[in-house]
Amino acid sequence: MPTHRTQLSPMEPAIHWFRRDLRLFDHQALAKAGEGGRPVIALFVLDPAILQRPDTGASRVAYLLEALASLDRDLRRRGSALVIRRGSPRAVVPTVAAESGARLVTAVRAFEPSARTRDEAVARVLEANGRSLWLSAEQLLLDPASLPPLRTFGACRRRFDSVLSDGLPPAAPTPAFLGVGSLPQSDRLPAPSELGLLRTDRIWEAGERAADHRLRTFVGQRLGDYATARDDPGADATSRLSPDLHFGVLSVRTVIRAALDAVQAVPIAASGARRWLEQLAWRDFFSSTLWHFPEVATLEYKVELRNLPWPGAADALEAWKQGMTGYPMVDAAMRQLRTEHFMHNRCRMIAASFLVKDLHLDWRHGERHFVRELVDGDLANNNGGWQWVAATGPDAQPYFRILNPVLQGETHDPSGAYVRRWVPELRGLPDRYTHRPWEAPLPPTGYPRRIVDHARERLVALELYRACGPSPQGSSVRS
Ligand SMILES: Cc1cc2nc3c(=O)[nH]c(=O)nc-3n(C[C@H](O)[C@H](O)[C@H](O)COP(=O)(O)OP(=O)(O)OC[C@H]3O[C@@H](n4cnc5c(N)ncnc54)[C@H](O)[C@@H]3O)c2cc1C
Repeated sequence: MPTHRTQLSPMEPAIHWFRRDLRLFDHQALAKAGEGGRPVIALFVLDPAILQRPDTGASRVAYLLEALASLDRDLRRRGSALVIRRGSPRAVVPTVAAESGARLVTAVRAFEPSARTRDEAVARVLEANGRSLWLSAEQLLLDPASLPPLRTFGACRRRFDSVLSDGLPPAAPTPAFLGVGSLPQSDRLPAPSELGLLRTDRIWEAGERAADHRLRTFVGQRLGDYATARDDPGADATSRLSPDLHFGVLSVRTVIRAALDAVQAVPIAASGARRWLEQLAWRDFFSSTLWHFPEVATLEYKVELRNLPWPGAADALEAWKQGMTGYPMVDAAMRQLRTEHFMHNRCRMIAASFLVKDLHLDWRHGERHFVRELVDGDLANNNGGWQWVAATGPDAQPYFRILNPVLQGETHDPSGAYVRRWVPELRGLPDRYTHRPWEAPLPPTGYPRRIVDHARERLVALELYRACGPSPQGSSVRS
């Protein structure tokens, strides 16, 4: 973390520039802003360039607006309010700093290439005017910026575990905020309808209270069974905290502490907690990859797979997006995505594998569709997930591991509960045909015939990959 050298008078305000850290509790950068009793101005910049980006999905904007409204309510309870300004952060942040006389601006370090460029530009303008931008490293447990590249998940996991065994710091104190009467002028938070959002986009309850309730419910009721139940998409066995973690509505330290406390209270929950913490470590792994190899945002991490051909057809992509491929697990997954703006992890793997290895479509098509639709859509995790499935990422699954959507369904959704929930056309089918409806004596009405034959397409995929010459382990030619 850079140190702030300028001497500040105790009453001079500091600005905390909120981005994907929309909380007051356990917030190190916020605590830094308020160090020594400095009153803090809570600033959020509504950047039209981000709102208009094609990868900015409506459900994520809906979550963001609700989380901002919740943050503003929490600040008002403390006699302050959220200052909202519309515009480019490069212009807005230095302007608000000049208006308020704040010489220190704090924020949480971002890892995406465009956010890094933005932060460097804002820091330059601030510094040119005798101010500074102080960044904390708290979006993850590890700080990729101060670590060498972590090329395997095992290496990441070992670092992650060693931070845990050193013990987490206590929750950072919430500072005092500048009173409402002294705040710089604020724009109004737009109503969801002003940004063209529909009621169907707003199905996730956002904000610290809602997220904390999700966390408590999960660790209290489901953490203990997580290791065994996490792969069953029909059981609601995972935490659904990914949007809260994406927007920093909960700090990662808070969720880890909650899991560790649960194990203290109920030691039998240990294996579930261990598995869950491992999942959290994947965030660190994928963000570290994006930080050290920003080119993965558009290119395969594995150089030897950058020429992989993608002969798939456009109408197959459309059938996949609509959940009309004729493969029940794939279709259930894609319909869950369309309706809930969420998808179970196992189903993300099945749907992604089907797009890449059965339909032979470029993983970037799937990545773009997911990030637009998902309420937790996240460049690092989504790109990491797609490159893992496509065998193009660091420490990815080997290219020849091709998920069979029928066997995956029969293994992970044996009762067919998940498929029947999302694909009503299959509800009347005898159980044994739920995952292979084309074998039923009477094909279900309104449900498509399968658009490809998995057994055949699997061989085509193997041929396409082998022609690029990846080693069976899929190791990279990177130095
Ligand atoms: C193709 C593909 C695309 C994905 N896209 C995203 C995405 O855009 N955003 C996103 O947050 N996750 C993504 N994931 C990872 C994972 O599917 C979701 O994080 C998880 O399903 C969220 O549900 P949960 O909160 O109930 O997870 P839980 O099982 O409760 O896990 C706890 C937390 O750990 C993190 N996590 C879990 N699994 C992973 C993983 N494989 N990679 C990174 N972090 C993980 C998430 O923050 C999650 O909230 C993707 C996975 C795949 C295979």
